[in-house]
This record gives sequence, structure tokens and C-alpha cells, in this order.
Amino acid sequence: MDLQSGNLYWPTTVSSPPSYPRLENDISCDVLIIGAGSSGAQCANILIEQGLSVVVVDKRKAGEGSTSSNTALIQYSGEKSFVSLSRSFGEETAARHLKLCEQAINDIERVCLQLPIDPNFIRRDSLYYASSKEDLPELNEELVLLRKYRFKADLWDAARISALYPFRKEAALYYYDDAEMNPLKFVYGLLEKVQSQGGLIYEHTEITGRRFEQDYALFYTKEKREIRARHVIIAAGYEDSDFKTEKNATLASSYAVITKPVADLSGWHKRTLIWETARPYVYMRTTPDNRVIIGGMDKDTSYARTRDSKILASKDKLLKAFNTLFPDIPAEPEYYLGAFYGGTHDGLPIIGQYEKYPHCYFLMAYGDNGTVYNGVLAKIIAEKILNGSNPDLDIYLQSRPLVPR
Ligand SMILES: Cc1cc2nc3c(=O)[nH]c(=O)nc-3n(C[C@H](O)[C@H](O)[C@H](O)COP(=O)(O)OP(=O)(O)OC[C@H]3O[C@@H](n4cnc5c(N)ncnc54)[C@H](O)[C@@H]3O)c2cc1C
Repeated sequence: MDLQSGNLYWPTTVSSPPSYPRLENDISCDVLIIGAGSSGAQCANILIEQGLSVVVVDKRKAGEGSTSSNTALIQYSGEKSFVSLSRSFGEETAARHLKLCEQAINDIERVCLQLPIDPNFIRRDSLYYASSKEDLPELNEELVLLRKYRFKADLWDAARISALYPFRKEAALYYYDDAEMNPLKFVYGLLEKVQSQGGLIYEHTEITGRRFEQDYALFYTKEKREIRARHVIIAAGYEDSDFKTEKNATLASSYAVITKPVADLSGWHKRTLIWETARPYVYMRTTPDNRVIIGGMDKDTSYARTRDSKILASKDKLLKAFNTLFPDIPAEPEYYLGAFYGGTHDGLPIIGQYEKYPHCYFLMAYGDNGTVYNGVLAKIIAEKILNGSNPDLDIYLQSRPLVPR
């Protein structure tokens, strides 16, 4: 699959990326992880810490899947609101999901401190503003639920927003303690740590076949090498449909612009992450070298040519949206891209377990908070492998009911 086009910013932030060999011989392990993106790397890190033998393979270079176009706003609240998730799954389940996301952000922060490559994890608050007056009741309802479950958020009025930002909006939810980071350095850091603890990582090693026995699975590479594993995690990102199609999964296209470094960001209150109630929405963040990342303008297409034909127009629209909010920050584009972007119909990421794939877990961290979902799902799958169960598995299994619980 042609995951993304355009020019990418994150690879330019790493002067000497780690590299790993191709798999040249048959091997066996406790856990085979297919995909060296942020899903696979987070799984590998948890499992190696528990003493399992881990093999990670990727058909590309590590981190060169969707992880390298990830704009890496690290938030627990997603495109589908708490209110809306509660309607689909019940309030308790929706609250538990958000708590798990909040916990995953804490886990990512803790892990970042242990990595040999610094992923520039920085705590940031988020401003989620009402794109139109009609959206005010939605924000009020959301706040009630957030407060009920003790999430730290406030509702700001127009006066408070105008006092701290150069734009006027009727109201906004202000979330505390979200974060930003460099997703590619995160993956490189995790993989280097995994390797230093005995994990085996192979790049340019594509999985093209499999066979299942009673107690183990055999996966085969394009070069006919065999990997024998007791458990397999398919963390192949939006390409996991090459293995198995999941009816709850969706594929669309998204766009992003990364500006040249700007001289003065002092008008941007605490460099908050900013997004809005409109769908599709526009979001923005800053980087440690004073760039602005603006993303969104999602389009409902899963054809690479259609996606790519809209890159230039989307770049202009994203810059215009930014200039409307911050007219005094001169934003010149340096990098811009279009990329496939996975979601789910019901708004939750998925752990797939299918009869036809015994010993296998499909990690589908589909959704706007994909990096956080990677963390939530990796922890659940790892615990299932280690202990045979996890109390939160049912929330994410592909077989979950699509009606209120
Ligand atoms: C434009 C954009 C912006 C985003 N912004 C955000 C954001 O702000 N915050 C956020 O949390 N998330 C965001 N996301 C989502 C985030 O990028 C993804 O959730 C995350 O990177 C997915 O990581 P992954 O490891 O699952 O997939 P990937 O990074 O794609 O990794 C999967 C890997 O599997 C490998 N693979 C596939 N098939 C095979 C095979 N047969 N054999 C071997 N290897 C294989 C691929 O080569 C790839 O490297 C964004 C995504 C996009 C596209």
C-alpha cells in the first residue's frame, strides 16, 4: 500500500537512524511482531521487559510506515467524544477507555525517560474550541461527563480565550496534561532499547505466508525464511488488511503541513495543542525547533491518486486556517504531505482475534489518537500473552457489540 506522499519532516530530525539486518535464516521465538512502527515497538518493549524472546520484522525500514507522517498530538480525548462513545458503548465503558488512554500517556512519558534516543516528549494542554455556536451544548455536555469521571478539564468562555489567544471563539474545552512528541525518535528509541535487551529486529523482511499448528504459528518471509512463534502480534498499521479485512475498520486520507521555524510563538498560550468541533477538523501544534504543524482536512478517499491530487490544495487550506487564528505568525510551509489514515465505524480501536488466525492478535490502533491507542492495546495484548487474560480485552475485541451495553 502506498501509505503516504509528499515530503516528511520527522526523518530530517534524526541524523543517523538505527538500521537492522534482513532476516537471512529460520528462527523461533516466543512472540513474533509484524511491523516496526509505534504499535510494534511498544509491544516489543513491554514483552522484552517481561523476559520473553521477541522478534520484530518490517518490510520497510523501521518507522517508515504511518509513524513517520504521524503529527503526534498525544491526547486521551478523541474525534468521537466521551458523550458519543457513551451512547455507543455505555458510560462506564467509555470512561474506562478514556482512563486507559490517560494511563497510556503516563506510560509513554515514563518509557521516554528510559530511551537511548530522546523522543522530545513534552506535556501540553489542549484547547478544543467550538467551531460554531451550535456546538456549545455539545461542549457543555462533554464537560459534565469529564468532571463526573474526574478528568481534568475546564470550559473556557469567549473572554478567557480572547485574553490568551489572538482569536475569538465562543467557547472551548481546555484539557490539561496532554502531550506532544517526535514519533519517529520514539520508535527508534524503543527499538534500540529492545535490541539492547536481546530482542531481534529485522528490516526489509516482508511476511507473505503463514501456517498454524496446535501450539505455534509459522510465518514465512518473501525470501522463504521461516519464523516459528508461540504468539504473533500483527502490528502492520493500515496494511493489516493485507492479512485480514476487518469490517469495522475504515480508511481515509489526511493532510499535514510543517512550517519553517518561526521567530516568535509568544502569542500562542503555552503552545497548547489546538483543535476544534468541526468535522473534518483542523488541528495544530508546535515543535521544539519552533515550527508549526497544521493537520486535518480529511477526505473520504482510500485511492492514493485521489489523495495525492489534493495535497497542494490541502496545504493551502491548512495554512489559511492557521493564518485565520494566528494572523501575526508568518507561516511558510517547508514540508507537506497526504497520507492514509485509519479509523473505525464505532470510534474505538480494535484488537482482532480470529478463528482463522490462531495464536495471533491484530493490533489495530485506528483513530486520531493512534499513538495512545498503540500503548493501550499493546499493554492489553502483552498481558493476555503473559497471563492468559486482561479485564479490558472485551472493550477492544473486534467482536464487541455495536449497540449500547
Ligand atoms: C497524517 C497523520 C497524522 C496523524 N496524527 C496523529 C496524531 O496527532 N496523534 C496520534 O496519536 N496519532 C496520529 N496518527 C496515527 C498514527 O500515525 C498511527 O496510529 C501510528 O503511527 C500507527 O503506528 P503503527 O505502528 O500501527 O503503524 P505503522 O507505523 O504504519 O507501522 C506498521 C508497520 O508494519 C509494516 N508492515 C506492514 N505489512 C507488513 C508485512 N506484510 N510484513 C512486514 N512488515 C509489514 C509496515 O512497513 C510498517 O512499518 C496520524 C496518522 C497520520 C497518517
